[in-house]
Amino acid sequence: MTVASSAAETFRNAYGAEPTGLWAAPGRVNLIGEHTDYNDGFVLPFALPQHVVAAVAPADTPGWTVCSTFAPESVSFAATEPGGVEGWAGYVAGIVWALGDAGFTVPPARIAIASDVPLGSGLSSSAALESAVLTALVELGGMDLPVADRPALAQRAENVYVGAPTGILDQSASIRCVEGKALFLDCRSLEVEQIPFDLAAAGLAILIINSNAPHQHVDGEYGARRKSCEEAARILGVPALRDVTPADLDAALGKLDDDVMRRRVRHIVTEDQRVLDTVELLRAGRIREIGPLMTASHASMRDDFEITVGQVDVAVEAALAAGAYGARMTGGGFGGCVLALIDADRAAETTAAVERAYAERGFTAPTTWSATPGPGAARLS
Ligand code: ADP
Ligand code: MG
Repeated sequence: MTVASSAAETFRNAYGAEPTGLWAAPGRVNLIGEHTDYNDGFVLPFALPQHVVAAVAPADTPGWTVCSTFAPESVSFAATEPGGVEGWAGYVAGIVWALGDAGFTVPPARIAIASDVPLGSGLSSSAALESAVLTALVELGGMDLPVADRPALAQRAENVYVGAPTGILDQSASIRCVEGKALFLDCRSLEVEQIPFDLAAAGLAILIINSNAPHQHVDGEYGARRKSCEEAARILGVPALRDVTPADLDAALGKLDDDVMRRRVRHIVTEDQRVLDTVELLRAGRIREIGPLMTASHASMRDDFEITVGQVDVAVEAALAAGAYGARMTGGGFGGCVLALIDADRAAETTAAVERAYAERGFTAPTTWSATPGPGAARLS
């Protein structure tokens, strides 16, 4: 059964009626540019074929009801303030709240959710959930909310309502990505450029290796990195670390006393430059050559930003030893997934190499698949 038919069936079983429509929004991987979003920098995600589907119909009574194939009970709520609905339904209530807070009248609705985006694996199931519900409610409510303004609204749901201090990467990817392309996003201006990323034509593939060591975003580590970056920007007298260029880096590091803070800054400044270099190579159709930038990004996340764990480091090392052109962790860190750029016919060998390395260390086995850039949020039917 497809995710879409599962959402429709869940709707029928829960509410004894047909949904008005089905809206999908994808999970994402970030090709490069980690933790740069909240530093006003650059990111380069692409959408996954895996998505969240929301089956939705307007309700004739006030309030909202939501159910999910992932949760045993449906949840009903009226308009609430941030934190009013806890748990998974908080992401949905957060969208209703953020729309209302932006001045829109949100139609009462019944919602059923199905998904094949793995939860808590750094593939952004939370933003996919928010984006599917947002796209549905905007259309059902006839709201004049341009696509370019939607990610910031969904981000408010996650930051303010749910209380997770994430940047704008995830929601931008889920809402603004285009099939076959990577999304080059300037997180300050919110300008985007769709970058050609035709892996198949180049005989290449991106192997996603889910380390199955779940990440924990809402936890303190993410917030601590963010605070450290903001504090460094304050000390350096710049609006955000995006304003420190590679040419300024040594001088900037000289003004910081704290070694940990110096390394955090070095990651952000070098990572922004790696995104720009990656975009240049992709514009020129030189996909294979982005490999070393991916691997350098991983080293920077491991040594300077300190957001990797043993499972992802081992996956990167094993993939590179098996011949990958480059490999890096993707997502906020502390687990989650690794991307390896490989020849399209090397997926099985690379997977076997990572599985062997995991077995030797007694890690839970990884899950792998090859990803192609899928479409962004849209109505399905
Ligand atoms: P990630 O976004 O990387 O997958 P998060 O911790 O940010 O990890 O978000 C995962 C949370 O999103 C889940 O714990 C759950 O609350 C919510 N969620 C995601 N997908 C669904 C779904 N299909 N049904 C219900 N809740 C979901
Ligand atoms: Mg998330």
